[in-house]
Amino acid sequence: MARRQRESVLVLWDVDHTLVTVGDVSREIYARAFLDAVGFPLRNLPPMTGRTEHAIIRATLKLHDVDPTLSLLRDFYAALGSAARSLETRMTESGAALAGAMNAIEELRHERVVQSLVTGNIASVAQVKLRAFEFSGLDRSVGGYGDDGSERARLVQLARDRASEKHAVEFAPDHVVVIGDSPHDVKGATDSGAVPVGVARGASSADELRSCGAHLVLNDLTESAALRRLVLALLTSG
Ligand SMILES: [Mg+2]
Repeated sequence: MARRQRESVLVLWDVDHTLVTVGDVSREIYARAFLDAVGFPLRNLPPMTGRTEHAIIRATLKLHDVDPTLSLLRDFYAALGSAARSLETRMTESGAALAGAMNAIEELRHERVVQSLVTGNIASVAQVKLRAFEFSGLDRSVGGYGDDGSERARLVQLARDRASEKHAVEFAPDHVVVIGDSPHDVKGATDSGAVPVGVARGASSADELRSCGAHLVLNDLTESAALRRLVLALLTSG
């Protein structure tokens, strides 16, 4: 059983518009996966920002009057993974690792800090994006992903459970820091008792992220000193 050690901190990163952008490749991944899994071309996509792949796929199928059966969802996940792998080079050409992201992860490296992901991407797509931009320092064997469900708070809880089990440490909910660019990330953190940190690099402004409950808001990850102070403060608060 995991031992209780409140002084350990779990840091969970969102991927899109927090660590990386992949330009217009996200739409291309969906178009290829849709054709592959459903059998006819994608006509349109629902809003994607901050939503999990599970939610996006269900909404996309509904837009095309296709029934979201479990087997179709499984096929769609597999097709998304294949499409992402085949578009990895395009991601690096039309996207980028965001300013300060790698350094921010590096600065939080500590024997009592575990860093992983909570992202709307399914696990296989998240892996491709992070590999494309050569991210390191994240434990990708745990985390919460878009194929785990539609509710971000549930993804945060799953990430905490997985990290606690793997690292044999019970991370207290208020020692989990969730970093993301959208109100969905902030809400997922708040609803699961975690500490939300907003990065106003995406579609939402700093004021918007603050007003929906972000404990700390950075304009981008070059402002990582404030994040480091927050994590160090949690490490020393029992
Ligand atoms: Mg995002």
